[in-house]
Amino acid sequence: MRAVSDKAPIEITNCHVHLFTGRHVPVNYPHWVLRPVKRFPWLAIPVAWLLAFFGFQEMSEKVKRLRQFQKETQSGNQREILDNVRRHYPDNTRFVVLPMDLSQIGHKPPLIGLRAQHDELAQLAADPEVGQTILPFAKIDPRADPEATELWRAINELRFRGIKIYPRLGYPPDHKVLMQHVYPEAERRGIPIMTHSSRGGVQGRGVRDFHADQFTDPAACIPVMRAFPKLRICLAHFGGQRDWAAYVNPERPSPYAEEHSRNWQVMIRRMITGETYPELWTDISYTLFNFEEYIPFLRLLLLREDREGDILRSRVLFGSDYYMTRQEVLSEKAVCFRLRNELGEEVFRQIAETNPQIWLGERPDPRQS
Ligand SMILES: [Zn+2]
Repeated sequence: MRAVSDKAPIEITNCHVHLFTGRHVPVNYPHWVLRPVKRFPWLAIPVAWLLAFFGFQEMSEKVKRLRQFQKETQSGNQREILDNVRRHYPDNTRFVVLPMDLSQIGHKPPLIGLRAQHDELAQLAADPEVGQTILPFAKIDPRADPEATELWRAINELRFRGIKIYPRLGYPPDHKVLMQHVYPEAERRGIPIMTHSSRGGVQGRGVRDFHADQFTDPAACIPVMRAFPKLRICLAHFGGQRDWAAYVNPERPSPYAEEHSRNWQVMIRRMITGETYPELWTDISYTLFNFEEYIPFLRLLLLREDREGDILRSRVLFGSDYYMTRQEVLSEKAVCFRLRNELGEEVFRQIAETNPQIWLGERPDPRQS
């Protein structure tokens, strides 16, 4: 029998994890529902027990998982969370760490500001034991940093590897600060951009769903890609949970469910395989952690043996969205192994090792030659 692979062991790069703690976010985050449990953590156990007792098994499980999630945000520091996520992966795995800046969303400012969060991350990256495993990205909210000073400090002085934006908080991806002070230099230096793109997630207070969706709509990046065709942009979450749910179940719950008429997963695929936007990428973080539901579809899309399949495979990145995934049933390790089994070693290696290296600018892109 042939060995599974005679190549070197896979070196996974998880392109999407978070290590920020409760002190980096306003008190109401991630959800106001959690607030009582956040203040009185012991509530989680009796609440879960009561729900189970009255037959609300699923809800009960959900509360327990929310508690898991919330425990993570209560970790004292980013190192603790890193240690937790590393347990799920082989030792040689690397993690793209995405900070968060929630100073502009209309809640009280977080205890620790973005600059300090960046510094903490830089310290972690200098740690002799675990520093090599992280690839920190710098965060910018253009409203908080109109000259992108903190962003370039993090990249030039702290040697951060990429840029994270989160338009859902209340700004378009082609915000003038980004167009003037961020993208031109990022394109010139080959610095990758990660942008949150789904109909869910955090949004600014007073930002209506309709507007938040406009900011994270895959089409919102088109002006950016037109102006900066060589800029490597990753639309996180491959369209997101809601659009995947609509994709796998065409029964429309309401005529207003836009994800049925303009499905973001389909749009992203078309934009990628249409070749008009050669530097458009996507990651499978969070969305695919609803594993059993979506893997048959992802598998077919990624294993297609035609030109479209080739192109799509070359632009999908493995990412998880730890610790957001603590709210899901399967552990990261469980999802990772299932994914590897379903996609096969070769395709798994491509999305988890090769593609991340290309996206990060560490190896040449065969599509450019
Ligand atoms: Zn995320």
